[in-house]
Parts: sequence; C-alpha cells; structure tokens
Amino acid sequence: MKKRQTWFTEYQTDSLSLGLRVDSILRAEKTPFQDLLVAETETYGRLLALDGAVQTTDRDEFVYHEMITHVPLFMLEAPKKVAVIGGGDGGAIREILKHPTVEEAHLVEIDEKVVDAARVFFPAISVALSEPKAHVHYTDGIEWVREARDFDVIIVDSTDPVGPAEGLFQAEFYQSIARALTPGGIMVAQSESPFLHEALIRQMHHGMKTAFSDVRMYLAAIPTYPSGLWSFLMASNQSVAPASRCRSQKIDTRYWTPDIQTAAFVLPKFVEDILG
Ligand code: SAM
Repeated sequence: MKKRQTWFTEYQTDSLSLGLRVDSILRAEKTPFQDLLVAETETYGRLLALDGAVQTTDRDEFVYHEMITHVPLFMLEAPKKVAVIGGGDGGAIREILKHPTVEEAHLVEIDEKVVDAARVFFPAISVALSEPKAHVHYTDGIEWVREARDFDVIIVDSTDPVGPAEGLFQAEFYQSIARALTPGGIMVAQSESPFLHEALIRQMHHGMKTAFSDVRMYLAAIPTYPSGLWSFLMASNQSVAPASRCRSQKIDTRYWTPDIQTAAFVLPKFVEDILG
C-alpha cells in the first residue's frame, strides 16, 4: 500500500505557495505570539515555521545567517557590541561570535518558545546561545532598542511585518536604532523579496532614510524564502566600506566570501528601480 504523504505548504501570496514533503512533525504549538511548527522535510532537513511561514531550514540557513551578520560586521575594523532583534533560532548569534573582536552579542526575542524549539531541534543553529558572550533577552525589540546605547551593529532578524513584528518595519523603530548605535554604527534588516515585496521595500528604505544618511541594499539567494531572491537593507550615518580584515581574517563560512562582500551590493536594474 502506498504511504500517505504529508506536505508543509507555505502560502507565500494569494497565488503562490511553496510545498515541502514532510517525514514527521516534531513540534506543533500555539505560543502566546504565533503558531510554531518544527518538521523534518525530505529536501531541506529540519524546518522551523512561524504562522505558516518558513523561518529557517537546516539546509539553507547558512546563507541567511552569514549574510545578515558578516556583511555589516566586516564593514567595521573592530565591532565589539552587537544586537540581534528577533532571530530566536540563534543562527545570527552563532555567526556574530565568529568575530573575535565581539565582546557582547545580545539576542532580543519576543517569543521564548522559539528559542526553546531552536535549542531542542536545531542544535547546530542555536549552538552559540550558551556562550558567555551571548546575552538572551525575552522582550519586545521595539521597547528594548529605546533604552539601548553604544552598539556597533544592530541586526533586525524579524518575521514578516505582521503581529509583533509590524513595528520592526517602521521609521520610528529605525530612528530608535540610530540613537542606539555608535556614531559609525551600522544597522541591517532583512527586507524580504524584490520580486514580491516592492511596496514593503520602498517603505523600509524610506523609513531608514529618515534616520540614516547612507542606506544600501544587498542580495542573497535563499531557496526556501519567497521567490528565492532575498534582500537586506543596511544603514549607517557614516559611509562605510569593507574593513581590511575582511580579506585577512579567516572565518569559517559556506556562502560569504570577501568577494561576496562587495558583489552582493551589485543590484539588478529592476531592484535599483524599486529603490528609486
Ligand atoms: N530568518 C527569519 C526570516 O526572515 O524568515 C527570521 C527568523 S527569526 C525566527 C524571527 C523572530 O522574530 C521570531 O522568532 C519572532 O518571534 C521574532 N520577533 C517578531 N517580532 C518581534 C519583536 N517585536 N521583538 C522581538 N522579536 C520579535
């Protein structure tokens, strides 16, 4: 008899979905903030989904986590204090702590259950959360940033702009981040797909421009995110360029390279047009 098949389907838009065949469901729960699912998929390994949207998979997580962290960290000669807003899976913290100059890496995650699921089911992603330099805060990133000061890099590793993450895409939040950074500090936020989220990208770009003099986009290929082409917006109040240690410091990566550091900022014409 043919085995019944289970599929995870993310409805990415009203007319587009991604389907992954699932071997087993490892956790399905309603947290105070969202529906959380951990499943074993055939193609991408373990999957974490929140409110039906893929957050991370064992097989392609390295692209997102390396690109949201190393690109801003390698713009600076000696980043010391770094924060991640969201990012409860711990992948961004793991990458940040590969930089030896970093003294403190703060994770500000609203939903403790995400961190718990990451610790249980994604040990290779959450591995650095127990390091002494990692500080985990269970609170709303919007409130936390209002009081934060002297950060070299702040990374917004958020869910899509619904529910508690909505404010993470607003100009007021970027203005708070600007106050929380050192004068040459840098923020980066995941800014979704140029193929599917034009209006949101424009809103974010415009919002960051109210707080920062230099706002730039870079891209990476992430197969399990909608459309597979993902964007990041980076902002600073000083014009920043890759620090020399970008080529000399050997860190262990699978996607990021010194050449990717510069190549990722080369944008296709249609993406340049979105940014105006
Ligand atoms: N890499 C992912 C992506 O782009 O799909 C994001 C991963 S990470 C799991 C996103 C996290 O942001 C979630 O765990 C969610 O709970 C958290 N989050 C959403 N709104 C937040 C807020 N206001 N403050 C702190 N964390 C928040």
